[in-house]
Amino acid sequence: MTTATTAAPFLTETTLELLGQIEDGPGGFGGVTGGPDWAQEVRRLARERNATILAHNYQLPEIQDVADHVGDSLALSRIAADAPESTIVFCGVHFMAETAKILSPEKTVLIPDQRAGCSLADSISADELREWKDEHPGAVVVSYVNTTAEVKALTDICCTSSNAVDVVASIEPDRDILFLPDQFLGAHVKRVTGRKNLHIWAGECHVHAGINGDELAAQARSHPDADLFVHPECGCATSALYLAGEGAVPEDRVKILSTGGMLDAARSTGARQVLVATEVGMLHQLRRAAPDIDFQAVNDRASCKYMKMITPAALLRSLVENADEVHVDAETAAKARQSVQRMISIGNPGGGE
Ligand code: SF4
Repeated sequence: MTTATTAAPFLTETTLELLGQIEDGPGGFGGVTGGPDWAQEVRRLARERNATILAHNYQLPEIQDVADHVGDSLALSRIAADAPESTIVFCGVHFMAETAKILSPEKTVLIPDQRAGCSLADSISADELREWKDEHPGAVVVSYVNTTAEVKALTDICCTSSNAVDVVASIEPDRDILFLPDQFLGAHVKRVTGRKNLHIWAGECHVHAGINGDELAAQARSHPDADLFVHPECGCATSALYLAGEGAVPEDRVKILSTGGMLDAARSTGARQVLVATEVGMLHQLRRAAPDIDFQAVNDRASCKYMKMITPAALLRSLVENADEVHVDAETAAKARQSVQRMISIGNPGGGE
């Protein structure tokens, strides 16, 4: 790995012009269009910074297109850990950048706008978890990866939606389990495992509201030949995962897939139309992978406002200012890393590219 480059990068006239257009508003940094000049400057600045740019599937199309790697949070965190570059620019929400920092503590991890939070991760704080643990002494804490570093540090085993069932099944049957923060994923795991001593935190992602059961069933009825892809790696789709299991839509048409699996299925499906139950950003990768298939969002309002805070302006500012840097203190990071590594040792955490 080469040394981190923190010196101010060279600013061309184009950089200065684009910087002059940036406006800071309540929805984040705006004012810059993600056109070819911008993309060229972003690539140049990333090289000067010795940085690799990672973009989550739910990012804006222009951010996905300029990135070195696109994927889901866990896959990207692993790419961050293996990357030869000294700086990681994580275009996603804050807990994802924190997870990258936890897995690569020696690197500089930047998020283009640290205000990009996550309503699901914010639905439980470290203090709330401490209180919950006190009410259930001896319980095993299983946390979905959409949690803050502090919550991961208080967790025994992390899970993704791909391996939540395996993680829960690996715990002795007579131990109580505290499952957090997503109530839909928790309900799904409880139903599949039949486990009575699984306590579920009542958290949820605000994008859930856009993917409800009636809408899912109505869309499946009105598109009888379409496949239904559910990408469960972000909380916004866990309600669809739950509803599919409840029989709200015909089982043979529902495919619960990680990002890699979804892109493979897009290339191999015989269906000419696919309904996609997840955040709308995923459509960009799918349409690129299989341009002949008609991909439709189950709900085109299912857009995460936090993901969309990573704008062209924010990414440019991040590379120029070396900001916003993500810090996780060493003790928290070490404990959080254990809970993530326990998950990886139990089974396939999913999230492969
Ligand atoms: S879609 Fe939901 S779970 Fe995913 S980052 Fe946004 S708020 Fe969080």
